[in-house]
Amino acid sequence: MYQYTQHYINGQWVDSTGDETIDVINPATEEKIGEISSGTKEDLDKAVQAARDAFPDFSQTTKEERAALLDRIADEYEKRKDKFIEVIMAELGSPVTFTKEVQYPMGLNHFRTAAKLVRDFAFIEERENSFIQKDAIGVAGLITPWNFPTNQTSTKLASAFAAGSTVVLKPSTETPFAAILLTEVFEAAGVPKGVFNLVNGTGSTIGDGISSHPDIDFVSFTGSGGVGTKIMENAAQDIKKVSLELGGKSPIVVLDDADVDYAAKTAISHIAGNTGQVCTAGTRALVPKSMHDDFIEAIKSHISEYPVGDPKDESTFTGPQVSEEQWKTVQDYIQKGIDSGATLVTGGTGKPEGLETGYYSKLTVFTDVKADDTIAQEEIFGPVLSVITYKDLDEAIDIANGTIYGLAGYVVGNNPDTVTHVAKSLRSGRIVVNNEKSDFTAPFGGFKQSGIGREWGDYGIEEFLEPKTIVGLPK
Ligand code: NAP
Ligand code: MG
Repeated sequence: MYQYTQHYINGQWVDSTGDETIDVINPATEEKIGEISSGTKEDLDKAVQAARDAFPDFSQTTKEERAALLDRIADEYEKRKDKFIEVIMAELGSPVTFTKEVQYPMGLNHFRTAAKLVRDFAFIEERENSFIQKDAIGVAGLITPWNFPTNQTSTKLASAFAAGSTVVLKPSTETPFAAILLTEVFEAAGVPKGVFNLVNGTGSTIGDGISSHPDIDFVSFTGSGGVGTKIMENAAQDIKKVSLELGGKSPIVVLDDADVDYAAKTAISHIAGNTGQVCTAGTRALVPKSMHDDFIEAIKSHISEYPVGDPKDESTFTGPQVSEEQWKTVQDYIQKGIDSGATLVTGGTGKPEGLETGYYSKLTVFTDVKADDTIAQEEIFGPVLSVITYKDLDEAIDIANGTIYGLAGYVVGNNPDTVTHVAKSLRSGRIVVNNEKSDFTAPFGGFKQSGIGREWGDYGIEEFLEPKTIVGLPK
């Protein structure tokens, strides 16, 4: 049992002022694996005060000192590799192989990348007659979701520390233990007291409290659009800056010269990876009409290479949804797809055979989906793919850009001119051609309702800074 009913405030673990707790469930077994405290507004106030008190000193540290701190954090993170893997598997139901290869290193990479980039970061710029100094923004409130328990927290924390901002973190109640392990990392790395504060609790109390807190200068949020709207409304009251990383409905544009098997496997891996619980997942495969039948055959022949099952099994590719609530949402969308008249290629409602315990869904692929169908427009956050055909590239680009989202886009194909044309035409924050590996130094974030602001690398650091122009500074 993971029993963590305290908050981390001003460099120490302290009791909550409330006595309510929240159970944490392993979605693969449906068993309770631990509990956390449901924090109160009083707990949050204490944490904000600690961050406020720590700000003057921390914001004046040199970038070399902060780079060294980030490297020590990365070192301590690496020492706890096995613990991170165990915790993420237990609280998220994340399959062991995916946890080792994706979840674990993503959190680590943000700290290493920030350490490297901050050393060369220009905190001071001189123009014709002005001197521009980038000051840390102040106290940042960080609110994170459950789908990448160390990635979503680490990108915000690494940027904040690099910039010299102090923070209060509220992680998701579904996956709080990875954040508790991060706290252990920060203590071991010597993060000064008050620079990092952790308050566990619900979104409606602690999350809402952060976005409306008069002593918080900036809210960095990752999660759903609905909550993003509430955060903006609260933040608007005192003109608090917000950064929002929200949902997506990203297209995979398959070109007519693509290898069909490669394209089909790319599409399946998008809905199967992290059980489709990825904001950048490619969930709409746009294929040329002439390729449609071969593409569907390739989906059918490769789907078994992405087995759904026990996260502890090395061969499992896809685990359960994070919670019963998410499972029900996914089931509702699959039913909506069936009701809309789309053709079910594989999967469907219900649990896969033999997986009655645990919040498992079937890998589900629909074809004959119309571009404006609900399942092709709304984020499902589960293993559901919509295949849509297009007659020419203009139509493909129109369909690709035809949602309220703009987080990511994917292009699969070979002709360099066509690939370039499509990649440059997509209205999204991150385009990936032929499964190229990620770049942690490059900005991450969304156009349109996928969000505001950017994370990762130097763009992420900028979010935690305020540029100050001084004209007429004596030389
Ligand atoms: P969510 O319900 O929006 O929750 C995200 C976080 O916000 C959680 O910590 C949650 O607390 C908190 N929260 C809930 N209500 C709040 C409120 N009124 N004020 C402030 N905070 C509040 O999202 P989720 O269910 O965890 O994650 C799934 C969604 O997040 C998907 O739509 C997905 O696309 C999006 N997402 C986007 C990205 C990205 O980078 N763009 C990454 C991951 C996920 P609780 O602990 O109480 O739930
Ligand atoms: Mg939730």
